[in-house]
Amino acid sequence: MFCMCNFDKMSLILIETELNFSFSCSRLKYAQPSTQTGRTDINAVTNWNAPLVWEGTFDPVVIDAIYKKMDPRVAVVVFAVGKYTRFLKAFIETGEKFFLVGFNVTYYIHTDRENEVPKVTLGKGRKITTVPVPSANRWQDVVLGRMKWATLTIEKTIRNEADYLFMMDIDSVFYSRFGAESLSRLSAVLHRGYYKNTPREKFPYERRPESKAYIPAEEGDYYYTAAVWGGYLGDMYKYCYEMSEEDTKNKIEAVWQEESHLNKYLLYNKPTKVLSPEYLWSDYDKVPADIKVVRISQLVKNYAEVRPNGGH
Ligand code: UDP
Repeated sequence: MFCMCNFDKMSLILIETELNFSFSCSRLKYAQPSTQTGRTDINAVTNWNAPLVWEGTFDPVVIDAIYKKMDPRVAVVVFAVGKYTRFLKAFIETGEKFFLVGFNVTYYIHTDRENEVPKVTLGKGRKITTVPVPSANRWQDVVLGRMKWATLTIEKTIRNEADYLFMMDIDSVFYSRFGAESLSRLSAVLHRGYYKNTPREKFPYERRPESKAYIPAEEGDYYYTAAVWGGYLGDMYKYCYEMSEEDTKNKIEAVWQEESHLNKYLLYNKPTKVLSPEYLWSDYDKVPADIKVVRISQLVKNYAEVRPNGGH
């Protein structure tokens, strides 16, 4: 597991196992929690007893105070290769308004166009680190390459500079609070397209046994997006990178690149928090009644124009 450096491991254990906030939330004003009432239109717990996080299942004041006590350092790892640098400004500006406000956040921007990283006024305890990466001719290579480059940055830098990490697609903007309720050892987000009434055999998992991302039809919990996930910098990305390298050796590319490997990992290494699609919606889609808040959303983009090799 990740070295927590100046981080109080014991506090973390308390937080994640017992939610013992008597020591951290005294004198806070918040509504009394109930054992009887709450949202009834969604399931707020997985069958491995992890929280399934939706608006209305946590009190932001309480949850922020619990994590603030530890004052974790959070790394946001993003890629802006080629024309995707155009998305940086809105992502960071809205991140400053809504993403873990009041916490220590560093944006690790991996780019081949360092001169296009915008100057944005950041809050206290927040900064930008630029990491140079090579350009790519295929968007698939950027997406797959993320695993390699992010793994290198984690090992070289982030491991010493952060306690939690979030990987995020850059073509997104924050619309609303994305707070400490999202933090855990391994937090994964339900893909908005498959979170309701999709039988597991219809999930777009990799179905070819020749790929390391293969999942048989009778297995699966949820279908997770690779566009937002977080955790302690554990082994997930390294695993995905190694599996995709194996696939390359065997001349196969998983159907949804890193997302396929990530889904395989998460099936056998259950996340400690599952975040609802509030934690990644899309401007392409109507917002249904059970999504009370869109916290971050993928922008509508002209694929043919922004991707080096166009297309979907
Ligand atoms: N990306 C990039 N340059 C590219 C293609 C992709 O920087 O030419 C990065 C960028 O961070 C983007 C992510 O890879 O958010 C995922 O790619 P994309 O958004 O095209 O995938 P989609 O979610 O639309 O399938």
